[in-house]
Amino acid sequence: MAFIDKARIAVKAGNGGAGAVAFHREKYVAAGGPDGGDGGKGGSVVLQADANLSTLTDFRYRRKYAAANGADGQGGRKSGKDGEDLLIRVPRGTLVRDAASGQIMKDLSDETPWTLCRGGRGGWGNARFATPTRQAPRFAKAGLPGESREVILELKLLADVGLIGFPNVGKSTLLSVATKARPKIANYHFTTLFPNLGVVETAGGGFVMADIPGLIEGASEGAGLGHEFLRHVDRCRLLVHVVDVSGSEGRDPAQDFDAINAELKHYSPALASRPQIVAANKLDVAQDFSALDALRAKADAAGFPLFPISAATRQGVKELLQAITRTLPTLPPVATYEPEYVPPAQDADAPPEIRRRDDGAWVVEWARIERLMGNINFADYESRMYFDRALRQSGLFDRLESMGIQDGDTVSLCGFEFEYWK
Ligand code: GDP
Ligand code: MG
Repeated sequence: MAFIDKARIAVKAGNGGAGAVAFHREKYVAAGGPDGGDGGKGGSVVLQADANLSTLTDFRYRRKYAAANGADGQGGRKSGKDGEDLLIRVPRGTLVRDAASGQIMKDLSDETPWTLCRGGRGGWGNARFATPTRQAPRFAKAGLPGESREVILELKLLADVGLIGFPNVGKSTLLSVATKARPKIANYHFTTLFPNLGVVETAGGGFVMADIPGLIEGASEGAGLGHEFLRHVDRCRLLVHVVDVSGSEGRDPAQDFDAINAELKHYSPALASRPQIVAANKLDVAQDFSALDALRAKADAAGFPLFPISAATRQGVKELLQAITRTLPTLPPVATYEPEYVPPAQDADAPPEIRRRDDGAWVVEWARIERLMGNINFADYESRMYFDRALRQSGLFDRLESMGIQDGDTVSLCGFEFEYWK
């Protein structure tokens, strides 16, 4: 199974339910007033980071996500039920990008829920339109459609410490002895296909350590799995560079150290200059200590502290973890990404859209008025007068005049119909 840390998904928020056109019916009452209820609001699509997740694999099998629609309104002023929000859980450190532009919309690095697509507002039932002059309105409003969009999810894990090194040097073993994480450990390369996260408990509250799967030579050129995984170390504050000094696989520790650092540099100079602590591992089976000395010389030259350890016997592990604990507070916090892409607001400044209906009515759609209408109680005289004033000041009527509107013409403004008199 391939490792997935990038996925493209399509999401859609629920549509608002339609408002009802209904009239009060009672025995012996010929025609009651309008009592159609409002449509329910469509559910939103909400994303939330979850510290227990570490891959985007799920999104490979399911690519479409939709929240529930709002239900239609009913007679008796009964509002339709709101559609339920859809909560999508992603690993911490997931970047959400607008698929079209590739720009970052959100870095889900903490667990605050974030609304990706807003549900549509429910339409008003005709009960809302009952005014003293219009006792029996036969119109109601359709609900607004829910927002929809395509996004790319991209995981850049959030961990304070990233374990790097060749396959099989003991990264997963170190993670398993330092934390409660239980990564797969086996004596063959590429055992780890998913990054594993663990919390190292310390007196000061602990830190997160990530086991980044096999970094191999040529990785930064896309030769192996490495490139995908380098993305994850991108955000680590400190790298623990695990090197096998046992010579058990015929490896040369100093050479390995250089090779990995060359890969880092090739991928990103910023990453190459990230502070490192070298963990010289498999000390328990090391025979040739001159190899360890050569590695120590390299580490010294780079200014990286070196700790000889055995992850298997836990020798030296405590000292290594203490050094990490001392170092972290001196380093900058985990980087977060600022949004680059701001979705166009349901544009309040967009001009009105005006067209003529077959029956001659002037049909006007205008986001600005639509929003205003949401705050008007049409059954209330003051509120209606306020709306009237706002409408006159909006310049809409001047525009209609210039298009040739006549006294007595019908105007349908965002579904609200009235006769026009200058
Ligand atoms: P990774 O690929 O870097 O995650 O390496 P693993 O943690 O999966 O370990 C690879 C192999 O090395 C496994 O067989 C481990 O049991 C073994 N190993 C890891 N650390 C030590 C150690 O300190 N001493 C010895 N003798 N073997 C180790
Ligand atoms: Mg491993």
